[in-house]
Amino acid sequence: MKISIPPSLAPLVTENQSIWPLTSIRVGGVSHWLAKPATISDLSVIIAWTQRQSLPYVVLGGGTNVVFSDQGYDGVVIYTRELTGHHIHEDQVVASAGESLAGLAMKFNRLGLSGMEWACGIPGTVGGALVMNAGTHDGDMASVVEGARVMTPSGVQHWPVERLEFGYRTSGLRTGRKEAIALEVDFRLHHDDPARCIERERSILEARQKTQPQGASCGCIFKNPENGPPAGMLLDQAGCKGLRVGAATVSSVHANFVINEGQDNASDVLALIQQMKDRVIEARSISLNPEVVIVE
Ligand SMILES: Cc1cc2nc3c(=O)[nH]c(=O)nc-3n(C[C@H](O)[C@H](O)[C@H](O)COP(=O)(O)OP(=O)(O)OC[C@H]3O[C@@H](n4cnc5c(N)ncnc54)[C@H](O)[C@@H]3O)c2cc1C
Repeated sequence: MKISIPPSLAPLVTENQSIWPLTSIRVGGVSHWLAKPATISDLSVIIAWTQRQSLPYVVLGGGTNVVFSDQGYDGVVIYTRELTGHHIHEDQVVASAGESLAGLAMKFNRLGLSGMEWACGIPGTVGGALVMNAGTHDGDMASVVEGARVMTPSGVQHWPVERLEFGYRTSGLRTGRKEAIALEVDFRLHHDDPARCIERERSILEARQKTQPQGASCGCIFKNPENGPPAGMLLDQAGCKGLRVGAATVSSVHANFVINEGQDNASDVLALIQQMKDRVIEARSISLNPEVVIVE
């Protein structure tokens, strides 16, 4: 039976939309439906519709850490980038899930609110960063987040930080143990001289500029193993730099980055990721776990 989009949802939901333009690595086939809520109430209406029609859904923030397959998604991709806005009260900030993480961090620096300088070079949204516990050696979401407002099947709830279960590049929201969509994130920062915050931002961005490859990517493909050398070193030693499948290639600058020179070619990217994993198993008997979220 064909599922039609109710008139009340017509401005928010479209059919048969390409996913690849919404991702930084530029892959992913067609989504049966694409929903773009601009408010929490839009999102509630969309979720109610998916429940009535028993449709699966997946949330997409900035699309900077996901790889969808060429099959796309036979359900509803809920794109949260338009859920924007933030409030600052002294050293506390509440930011909507669709806000740009780096944009917000840079704003805080100029206001003399310190704690998120590490985030200045990380693409994507606040919601995606929460789910992934995004971070660098200098800090991560777990170090500045106090809680979050989430939409669950039983309604909107406020979860304190303990309930978010942050881990290394993960949280309870990522693992799928908790069916929840991040709506707003509470940050606790501290006051500092804006000039000092901006200086830290400048040096972080400069260092990233020197070490991070250019081109369409989704950042690091694999997590660092708990013990032992970082994934980039293992991949480099296994001879991955320069490996290529079709238009996807392993960066010659950083062996944990896949650079995609094409578009809508997920099979290239996924086959290359598998080759990288296999090489490290062969060379070192270590099975790397993906940092990126693969939606197949
Ligand atoms: C060039 C480059 C450099 C990068 N450098 C870093 C780095 O230094 N450190 C780092 O940690 N990461 C890095 N990344 C990875 C990525 O930027 C981060 O993980 C980012 O926080 C992901 O945010 P996003 O909005 O793009 O999430 P997406 O990629 O859209 O989604 C990631 C996951 O979160 C889920 N999700 C997104 N929003 C929500 C929401 N509102 N509610 C529930 N689930 C949601 C998605 O379903 C998916 O499972 C880099 C990526 C690139 C391309």
